[in-house]
Amino acid sequence: MSKNKEKLKMVLHKEGLRFTNQREAVWNEIVTCDEHRNVDDIYMTLRKNGILVSRATVYRTIDVLVKNNMVRKLDVGVGPSKFEHKMNAPHHDHMICIQCGRIEEFVDDQIENLQDSVAKEYEFKLVRHIHQLFGICKDCQ
Ligand SMILES: [Zn+2]
Ligand SMILES: [Zn+2]
Repeated sequence: MSKNKEKLKMVLHKEGLRFTNQREAVWNEIVTCDEHRNVDDIYMTLRKNGILVSRATVYRTIDVLVKNNMVRKLDVGVGPSKFEHKMNAPHHDHMICIQCGRIEEFVDDQIENLQDSVAKEYEFKLVRHIHQLFGICKDCQ
């Protein structure tokens, strides 16, 4: 069994939910894609691929995945939240267009270092951070 499948099984069990083909399909769809998509995007792709799954199941499954740290939820300000998987995904931050919802990923060593030194200054042991910049993308300007 693949590591991702095992992880899903574990999490569903912990939440008292049955492991089903539908839930596995939702997880597979998310974990094999590196884009940021909303629930409807994910739902539509599943349906297009011939997977019979209800919107409610997609919502519910994603909720559980977010709760258990397998998926990241991004509040994009306009429109529905977007999601991306967190399996072996290197750390990155997000820049979000408040008009079209486009998301750019970025990593900036200076920002990372600055966060570390600010945390140190406040005697905080940094565990994780969420850094999102909201603006208007080149196409929307
Ligand atoms: Zn835009
Ligand atoms: Zn991302």
